[in-house]
Amino acid sequence: MQSRRPASQGKAAWPVYARAVALTLGLIYPIATLQMLHFYGTATASFYLIPTLVGLIIGLLLGHSSLLSRRLAGKNLQFRAVADLAHELTCFRRLDGSFEYVSPSSRQITGHAPEDFYRDPELMERLIHPEDRERWERYRAGRVESAREESLDIRLLTKDGRVVWVNHQSGPVFDEHGCRLGTRSTNMDITERKRAAEHIEYLAYHDGLTGLPNRLEIARRLQEQIERRSAEANYRSFALLGFDLRRFKNINDSFGHAFGDQVIPRVAARLQAAKPSESVLGRVEGDKFALIAPDIETGAAAEQLASRMLEAIERPLQIDTSEIYLSFSVGYTLFPEDGDSPETLLRNTDVAVTRAKNEPATRVGTYREGMIDAAHHFITTEHRLHQGLKNGEFVPYYQPIVDLRNQQVCALEALVRWNHPERGLTGPDEFLPVAEATGQISQLGEYLFERIVDDLRGWEIAGLRLPIAVNLSIREFADPGLCKRLMDRLSAANCSVGLVRLEITEQVFIGDLDLARRRLQCFRESGFCIALDDFGSGYSSFNYLKHLPIDSLKIDRAFVVDLATQARSRAILRAIAGVCRELDLDAVVEGVETDAQRQALVDMNFQTAQGFVFHRPQPAQEISRLLLGAEATAAAAPLTLPARA
Ligand code: C2E
Ligand code: CA
Ligand code: CA
Repeated sequence: MQSRRPASQGKAAWPVYARAVALTLGLIYPIATLQMLHFYGTATASFYLIPTLVGLIIGLLLGHSSLLSRRLAGKNLQFRAVADLAHELTCFRRLDGSFEYVSPSSRQITGHAPEDFYRDPELMERLIHPEDRERWERYRAGRVESAREESLDIRLLTKDGRVVWVNHQSGPVFDEHGCRLGTRSTNMDITERKRAAEHIEYLAYHDGLTGLPNRLEIARRLQEQIERRSAEANYRSFALLGFDLRRFKNINDSFGHAFGDQVIPRVAARLQAAKPSESVLGRVEGDKFALIAPDIETGAAAEQLASRMLEAIERPLQIDTSEIYLSFSVGYTLFPEDGDSPETLLRNTDVAVTRAKNEPATRVGTYREGMIDAAHHFITTEHRLHQGLKNGEFVPYYQPIVDLRNQQVCALEALVRWNHPERGLTGPDEFLPVAEATGQISQLGEYLFERIVDDLRGWEIAGLRLPIAVNLSIREFADPGLCKRLMDRLSAANCSVGLVRLEITEQVFIGDLDLARRRLQCFRESGFCIALDDFGSGYSSFNYLKHLPIDSLKIDRAFVVDLATQARSRAILRAIAGVCRELDLDAVVEGVETDAQRQALVDMNFQTAQGFVFHRPQPAQEISRLLLGAEATAAAAPLTLPARA
């Protein structure tokens, strides 16, 4: 329907008026003549004038009205010509709400024929999806007030119960004089477009492999949960649990990524089956899952849930012909004490899971505020290490290794200490992991070796020729230039290389075993002795011992702790002693703390040991005093002064 007048309509107007006037005069004149003759018996001047005027007026009125209806019919025709063929559902609604026009496409879109709408003006309102009715009413209320054309995406229920999305556009229709006639609307079927958009939305918030909510969606759900709790007067906690599939990288490396892709959905299904019904599970990263547990309000409840779920999911998984054992690291956080936003909760749950991963005794990891931020600790330690190296704050301490038969000191192990200006004397556990991760260990190792060689030289001059064990981290061992640098340093100080025993751990053999063996061979050929440290705590395969160029084994403290009470530990130690004899390796037992342990080792024919029961690690000056006596200590002292007074 339009309010502009088409140009062709002006030409058609005169014949319509002429026909109407002629017709009216033709009808009125004979009637008027008969009337005149009847009343007056004769014709007067007005006999011609009055009927002519009346006829003219009536004729013009009739002509105008017939012109209007022809125009309306014309418009209607033009409108229908377009609307009838259009795919959209087009309607024209009068001011009283009844339909003047409904396009035939109503059948395709709603399942109802146009006649249904003509008969039942309320039908359209009833077709609107109940969830969209409020929006529809608001839209209508706004629309009635404004003359603008607006649009609204809305769902309609079809006659056969399907849901279709339409884009509804409507606007008022006016006549030439600005009087409102009604409302026209078009309703375009946008169901396909909406489905595609919904699918894209779904993909953005879900993981393609498992169909579970992804990290974004979990964050969104967490936000909802936080808002809900925060609105409560006395708001309750809820828990976020994190599950990390252990050794997934190994699974991928050994079986291939296609296999890994089969594992993840199976793991997801297991978690899904084991979780409480009201909780929400998501896959937040490759092998990491998160569970929002709205009903878990305490740490104890979270631990119980985590343990219960672990029991249900840590079972072997059969895929094709392979069976893999699933094991998880689990941690949790509670809202609001461990975080009051989705980001902090997710991040701190990661920290909790990492704790479970790194601390074998921790079954379910927690996030403690007191732990400070691990990243913060890392950065400050890195910075302080840098300063400490510049200021020479590191010193070697020495722990004597004794001959078990007579308790004489037969060697020393150099152990690093940090004379921290604020924290005081600090052990390696506090800073070595950071130094190793940042690579500062190389600089630290080199600095320490200088100090150790100085001490060694001082003791040699004083007449004390004791081998010193020096620990090497994996990173130091991997440095191809290390052997030469150590040799250069020793020859500059005129020290014999045979007095240095390098301690490495089994970790250096993970990866390229051949390369590690060649490197060891190189150290050996240069004259260094090699000890394998912490034996028994890692892979401890006797098999490869045969093929490695090593001189001694340092047996881990773990076997000594329960030596007096555990027959199993005694059996293992006996076996290790046997292997050492067979392979002609020296054995040093670490961490001997009690006399009972010492005696047990003597009984098993071990030769050497180290531990607090004999001596604690101590500065060079103390060692000089212990081994050389007061006078000799004075001679050796200048070389062994700690960097900081
Ligand atoms: P490790 O090489 O196994 O050193 C033995 C550790 O056991 C030392 O801890 C020592 O103080 C401790 N220990 C000795 N006897 C006993 C005992 O009877 N009972 C108990 N409970 N502990 C005993 P420390 O000095 O804290 O060193 C820890 C680790 O740090 C060392 O373990 C070593 O792996 C590493 N480390 C120490 N100094 C250096 C270094 O200069 N370079 C490198 N790369 N690593 C070092
Ligand atoms: Ca060691
Ligand atoms: Ca050790």
